[in-house]
Amino acid sequence: MWVLTFARPVCILVLEARPVGTDGEHLLVASGWSPLRAAAMALFALSVVEGALILRRAERSTQPLEQVAEKLQSLLVRRKGRSTMTEPINQTRSTANAVDSSPEKLDMQRIAHHVWQLNSNPPNRVNTYLIEDVLVDASTRGAAPRLLIQLANVPLSLVALTHCHPDHQGAASQICETRHIPLACHEADVAAMEGRAPMLPRNLLTRVIERVGGGPAYPVQRILRDGDEIAGFRVIHTPGHTAGHVIYFHESDRVAIVGDVLRSMNPFTGKVGLGEMPGALTVDREESRRSIRKLAQFRPAIICFGHGPVLRDREQLDRLVARLP
Ligand SMILES: [Zn+2]
Repeated sequence: MWVLTFARPVCILVLEARPVGTDGEHLLVASGWSPLRAAAMALFALSVVEGALILRRAERSTQPLEQVAEKLQSLLVRRKGRSTMTEPINQTRSTANAVDSSPEKLDMQRIAHHVWQLNSNPPNRVNTYLIEDVLVDASTRGAAPRLLIQLANVPLSLVALTHCHPDHQGAASQICETRHIPLACHEADVAAMEGRAPMLPRNLLTRVIERVGGGPAYPVQRILRDGDEIAGFRVIHTPGHTAGHVIYFHESDRVAIVGDVLRSMNPFTGKVGLGEMPGALTVDREESRRSIRKLAQFRPAIICFGHGPVLRDREQLDRLVARLP
């Protein structure tokens, strides 16, 4: 059963599909109404409708999947994100060039020693990182051609996921197959990655995202557990957003690649700011908040998000933790 609530009688907008109960019922909630937010959400709703129409047309034709994915990708790219947080990208790029001008890495930003963020369009919307020869997260299915080109001259030994969601595992199978490298994720997300269990949470929003950006099931050859090490980074189990969510933490320079424990950009609206991931995309909000507190206890100096620009101001994290219910 679908329950609709309307903040204003003149507009019908879906802001968030929240699962209620355990029978697949959802509550579509409109909240925090303002003209700007309404306009942003109207654009998002139009994108969803347009995306659904592309999928529907594709189902009735013999269009190759890649062509459909490209159309959907361009739909997302049309709504560019703005970046106003921490240092501007050009500054990072010039730092990168000064430290390491190797041409094969010019399509990436250097974040710290041995840590690179791959460029994407819109910038920072869906992030992937390279630590030494390990790719952390694999964006959406449609990003595979771009990622393969960006990584063409870079040695790769592993794709390691922060968690199994469509915008992090989307291109994983293509990259692993093309580069002949294994895939790693936490043991609690292995079943979802291998297609033996659904990606959670299950609601309208996540199903649309999975259709638009999710990659095929793929075997996990390296199963991660809390305390493991990947390219000098410690694997820390931070469940909540998914049961098998992990962050990768480097002790000496305190770099944390945090996936979706937190975000510094709203993945739907592109608005920059530190905050929790939307509830509709998170399996267990309470557990996710415990993981946010756990992250803060590691006192990270550089925080790399799945969505949003890198944050080098830990006080923002401390303030957010203090505000958590
Ligand atoms: Zn994500």
